[in-house]
Amino acid sequence: MGVIRTSNRKGILNVNIEIAKYCTGESELEIGQAIYSLIAELYPVCRSITGNGFRQTLETLRHHIQLKVHEVPSGTEVFDWVVPKEWNIRDAYVKNSKGEKIADFQKSNLHVLNYSVPVNKIVSLNELREHLFTLPDYPDWTPYKTSYYKENWGFSLSYNEFQKLEEGDYQVLIDSTLENGSLSYGELYLPGEEMNEILISCHACHPSLANDNLSGVSLTTMLAKYLGDCSRRFSYRFLFIPGTIGSITWLCLNKTSVNKIKHGLVISGVGDAGNITYKKSRRGDAEIDRAAFHILKNSGQPYEVMDFSPYGYDERQYCSPGFDLPVGRFSRTPFGRYPEYHTSADNLDFVTAYALGNSFARLLDILLLLEGNRTFLNRNPHCEPQLGKRGLYDSIGDNELAMLWVLNLSDGRHSLLDIAERSGVSFAAVQGAAELLRRHCLLDVSG
Ligand code: ZN
Repeated sequence: MGVIRTSNRKGILNVNIEIAKYCTGESELEIGQAIYSLIAELYPVCRSITGNGFRQTLETLRHHIQLKVHEVPSGTEVFDWVVPKEWNIRDAYVKNSKGEKIADFQKSNLHVLNYSVPVNKIVSLNELREHLFTLPDYPDWTPYKTSYYKENWGFSLSYNEFQKLEEGDYQVLIDSTLENGSLSYGELYLPGEEMNEILISCHACHPSLANDNLSGVSLTTMLAKYLGDCSRRFSYRFLFIPGTIGSITWLCLNKTSVNKIKHGLVISGVGDAGNITYKKSRRGDAEIDRAAFHILKNSGQPYEVMDFSPYGYDERQYCSPGFDLPVGRFSRTPFGRYPEYHTSADNLDFVTAYALGNSFARLLDILLLLEGNRTFLNRNPHCEPQLGKRGLYDSIGDNELAMLWVLNLSDGRHSLLDIAERSGVSFAAVQGAAELLRRHCLLDVSG
């Protein structure tokens, strides 16, 4: 990844001040292009919550990061759920009496109801209609439909095509299997100086949809690749899982070790043209919530912060009351608020390298804030130290205020983020001041 400046490889802790420099302009766009390329590579694959499409996707990601692939057998009880049978599909179509295919899996995997059981029979138009899905409001688009937990079969097609259907017999074929197998997920653990972990989770179970969920999968991959090259204070755990059942399964298998997770993010929908949106964790005031808000507020770009609700992606499971982990959600336009969501219009034209690079940069800002959010102790707490004789007034210029705040609040009880929030000074400026004061032996790290 040529976008990373060599100076950043020295380690995260010392580079926060540089964030604004390296996450702008060309490098941001370059990383966006790398993420976009990975989306385009993964786009044709027919994924689902289980099966070979999911495995193939993990294999592609393994070209970039050393993911460990886990397989959890069908039938495994995970809390109140059971790992489902494994679904695989080779072909599917509906043919009219003239032999013309009016829905063809080979042209788009969205044409098949995801998790359709196998079928091969002749049906009347009336019976066929009961198994068809369309979008009358967007007559050119094909909807993405699933039936994971209720055995069914079906096809999606555009409303325009649907209206052309004539009375008569139709041949329906779905060459799929739904059998005992396993649920696959990918996990990457990057050890840091501390055992405390930052969890980054994305769902990877959708077929040919670009923003939901390939943008999250691809950005998370590039983020893991980037952080793998940095020295890290926190350990990082990246999860590439099927939505809902994947996080439930992972939490069930790892329930005794989740107390290491100090911060977490669910990443999804990060490539559209909308503003960055952060959804708070259930706690609402966790450090990750405050860090995300601070970064977005100081980003100079429009943004939105949403309160937690028990509706959404895998944050629902991480933030269930038995876990209540500090996990928020990072996206651009929230799902359901754009008409392209879960339709064939969420395609490679719907996501841009610019938006992907911008999302990457803000996400990295948030992580770097967490990495650098230390607590210090003022070694000269009785009255102000004389800064002039140390040459500090000259050297910090406009950051004088930040330095005075850091000295005043560094009593071992206020983190740098506390100081930034209370002073109204950006975290980057507060951190820069703290670093300078520490170099002049005026501060000690206390936490
Ligand atoms: Zn979705």
